[in-house]
Amino acid sequence: MDFVVPSPRGTKWGLGGTCVNVGCIPKKLMHQSALLGNALQDAHHYGWEAPASVPHNWAHMAEAVQNHIKSLNWGHRVQLQDRNVKYLNVQGSFVNDHTVQGRDNAGKEITVTANHIVIATGGRPRYPDDVEGAKEYGITSDDLFWLKESPGKTLVVGASYVSLECAGFLTGFGLDTTVMMRSVPLRGFDQQMAQLVTSYMESHGTKFLKHCTVKNVGKLKDNRLQVTWNNHAEGMEETNVFDTVMWAVGRVPETRCLNLEKVGVKLHPESQKVLVNSSDTTSVAHIYAIGDIAEGRPELTPTAIMAGKLLARRLFGQSTELMDYENVPTTVFTPLEYGCVGLSEEQAEKRYGEEGIEVYHAYYKPLEFTVSGRDSSQCYIKMVCLRERDQKILGLHFIGPNAGEVIQGFALGIKCGATYSQMKKTLGIHPTSAEEVNKLWITKRSGLPATVTSC
Ligand code: NDP
Repeated sequence: MDFVVPSPRGTKWGLGGTCVNVGCIPKKLMHQSALLGNALQDAHHYGWEAPASVPHNWAHMAEAVQNHIKSLNWGHRVQLQDRNVKYLNVQGSFVNDHTVQGRDNAGKEITVTANHIVIATGGRPRYPDDVEGAKEYGITSDDLFWLKESPGKTLVVGASYVSLECAGFLTGFGLDTTVMMRSVPLRGFDQQMAQLVTSYMESHGTKFLKHCTVKNVGKLKDNRLQVTWNNHAEGMEETNVFDTVMWAVGRVPETRCLNLEKVGVKLHPESQKVLVNSSDTTSVAHIYAIGDIAEGRPELTPTAIMAGKLLARRLFGQSTELMDYENVPTTVFTPLEYGCVGLSEEQAEKRYGEEGIEVYHAYYKPLEFTVSGRDSSQCYIKMVCLRERDQKILGLHFIGPNAGEVIQGFALGIKCGATYSQMKKTLGIHPTSAEEVNKLWITKRSGLPATVTSC
């Protein structure tokens, strides 16, 4: 059973959930579109007699991205059919602990009973409820990827993954883009890395309003949006006009319509996410919850998929294997990408104490940045290790081109318990940015400058 309630702006989409339709997939493709713009700027340094500045056509890009998404929707439908899975495009709600009911598009009542029920309804972007005009005039990531026309001058509110990634590609398209943060960027991530990510964005055109919160949004006669906000650092009220205001202030779990209280599935009192144990079971023995809807789980597609597969194997195979949520790799696809796996420096310090960890780090220059004179001041790697003989790696953080590809490979080693000694014995592939990880030798403790100078 699967159903998409249109966004307050009326945007709706097909089968495949957030990642496919309004998340990872369109985000990565739009990020790629912005990276190509960078490549165009570099091209003349590499001998291409191309103009350094070429206009970006939003409508053309959006159509191509949206067509790809539609092909994925179709692919998912075919896969379900191939596996004899019945697909019901219905918004379901529990009637009792073995029965879910809803109406199809034609208004016909559909009732499904099952021995086991899995809740995997994810979440939807949140609108602030204390800002006048927020819902009326603002959009969210549910809408951005399906816009037919360019959003123009955009204010993105929030400072996490969704906000920075979207602001990054909008800036890359040449749009006047501002991020409004009320506190720190990328809360929960290694804060030194988060600061480098935003400082690169800031020096490459994204504007940042720090320690600010929106007061109200209003529409002007020319349809542009007037935003008034409180600048808490300056203790004053400020205002500006934008074409688009996008809220990226977190997500709300989709538990509201499920009638969970009726069947006794317990929710976390604050997050309203479903409480689960290590085997993904809710407070009702045969009802399970996986993915973003489950309390305490990372909001990441691959963890949800793997949790689902393992649950199916435990229920219907011989397996007893539980999902392991340690060392989950991830990447923030900002203009300069940030990939990481394992603990942040702050988390490692909290767990093992400052004296219990060794931090290796280096600023490096990707070879491809040299000829084009691209700024590499924020290209940085940090490896957090246990301070013992072989120095088990606790966390790896990488800012630079293709961070996702780099971290994906090292994540295997770290999952297998790799140590700093083993990393030092691993040969680099020359010339790559990833080899800089194998070459790390400067500890933070040494106080030596962390800039790599040799090739
Ligand atoms: P998050 O919940 O991670 O962050 C919300 C952001 O909005 C924070 O910066 C928060 O600030 C800010 N905020 C909240 N309320 C307000 C407000 N009223 N006014 C101003 N700012 C506000 O949300 P996201 O939607 O970015 O991400 C959701 C999840 O999706 C993430 O946990 C992530 O795991 C996943 N994701 C993964 C991606 C990937 O793998 N590349 C990409 C995108 C999302 P403060 O810190 O002050 O609370």
